[in-house]
Amino acid sequence: MDAPRRRYRMFVDDEWVDSASGRVLTSVNPATGEAWAEVPEGDGEDVDRAVAAARKAFDHGPWRTMAPIERGKRLRRLGELIAENAAELARLETLDNGKAIRETLGVELGAIPNWYHYFGGLADKIQGETVPLGPDFLNYTVREPVGVVGAITPWNSPLLMYAMKLAPALAAGNTVVVKPAEQTPVTALELAKLVQRAEIPAGVVNVVPGYGESAGAALVRHPDVDKIAFTGETATGQAICREMTGNLKRLTCELGGKSPNIVFDDAEIANALRGAMAGVFVAAGQTCVAGSRLLLHERIADEFVARLLERVRRIRVGDPLDPQTHVGSLVSREQQQRVEDYVRIGEQEGAELLCGGRPREEALARGCFFLPTVFTRVRNSMRIAQEEIFGPVVCVLTFREEEEAVQLANDVKYGLAAGVWTGNVKRAHRIASRIRAGTVWVNNYRRIHFASPFGGYKLSGFGRENGLEVIREYTQVKSVWVDLGAEIPDPFPA
Ligand code: NAD
Repeated sequence: MDAPRRRYRMFVDDEWVDSASGRVLTSVNPATGEAWAEVPEGDGEDVDRAVAAARKAFDHGPWRTMAPIERGKRLRRLGELIAENAAELARLETLDNGKAIRETLGVELGAIPNWYHYFGGLADKIQGETVPLGPDFLNYTVREPVGVVGAITPWNSPLLMYAMKLAPALAAGNTVVVKPAEQTPVTALELAKLVQRAEIPAGVVNVVPGYGESAGAALVRHPDVDKIAFTGETATGQAICREMTGNLKRLTCELGGKSPNIVFDDAEIANALRGAMAGVFVAAGQTCVAGSRLLLHERIADEFVARLLERVRRIRVGDPLDPQTHVGSLVSREQQQRVEDYVRIGEQEGAELLCGGRPREEALARGCFFLPTVFTRVRNSMRIAQEEIFGPVVCVLTFREEEEAVQLANDVKYGLAAGVWTGNVKRAHRIASRIRAGTVWVNNYRRIHFASPFGGYKLSGFGRENGLEVIREYTQVKSVWVDLGAEIPDPFPA
């Protein structure tokens, strides 16, 4: 018999409530196929309620006007509470999305509290400037919060996504309505419990689970939402952009990627191998920055691929709650099907499938497991080299000259990230400057840090998260002019 399901209510105005419609959303553990949690399925009416609470908290609540250092303390408290509850949060995240516990607990929950600590520390340092306009005027700028933020997030790293949005938004004095992905609604609601314990006032954070087309779209359309902070697929980001031409609210879009990971023949091969593996197989390749296009210098390609295959065969795919497991489950059957479809497309296009390419069956038949997959003989024009697969699939391409590597790296519609592995420091910087992507890692891969700006070029989106840079996204600048005694000229002299 299945274990009893956990039941949640949504979090609006500091209260735990059911959806207006009474409908519920079920979260399925993709590693077992079991429905394990139920949350309210929010729609337009619930979004209205949450936005009204966030609006009221912004316009009349104590958050925006509270001494910034006090806001900062509460954010740091939230970070501490997340750290204290890391094991349970990681377990629930893994139940929701199937990612290996060594990733959710060992990597993500280890880092997430730092977002709240860093931005908590920044809350009282968000300041304006004085602008020299001469003796007649004092002109100064004030950075003010934008207002009510709608945060719409994907399923692949939910708690990290909330940290990247909530921590800076709240530090700047905004209020937020979070719409988590329908596949992974649980940890946003768990986080809301900690928001309450951190004494973040009523209405400052609200969580409305629901589907993108209903709850997400309602948030995008809502006239009282001042900004949408979106992370998800490029196609969804484009749909949101179209929708927002009607209301012109602020928007940041963190979208998809198809990132090149370039290895030169003078690289430290052992490190590059680890970077290639981490780039595309950790989290089963379900990361926006996946190094899914591995560009190898032709002199080292054969040996590199042989060593890669040997390492890939030792990746332990299985029960994501087992700390020994390297790679857990994909998030859903749909995602598993999508990855399988791309493997078939790659074969039809003439790429050579060296390993993987199919779900992991045997004892794990009920889960959405997929074996790490390596394609060689890939041409850059193939769909598997151009489209985001979002699974554990790496496409190997080769190059002869540096120029060719740059061309291949940039010949894709995305521009989220890139890796370059070389012992030649001049080349490293040359390539870093020529790659059209928001992040370039030299001799490392897949590093994200709260202090370092992150975001896309091209169809990977616009706006930046993390670091001082993100504060611009959650504030607006007011310019104040003070007359210092100059006579006001008569505009219509006699
Ligand atoms: P998705 O676009 O399907 O969904 C993301 C969120 O948008 C979900 O909450 C969904 O409910 C909501 N949504 C869907 N349609 C909507 C609509 N019409 N209006 C408003 N909201 C809507 O993405 P996904 O499948 O959940 O996530 C995977 C994608 O996210 C990949 O493309 C990945 O590259 C991208 N991603 C990007 C980053 C980044 O920082 N650039 C980080 C993580 C994931």
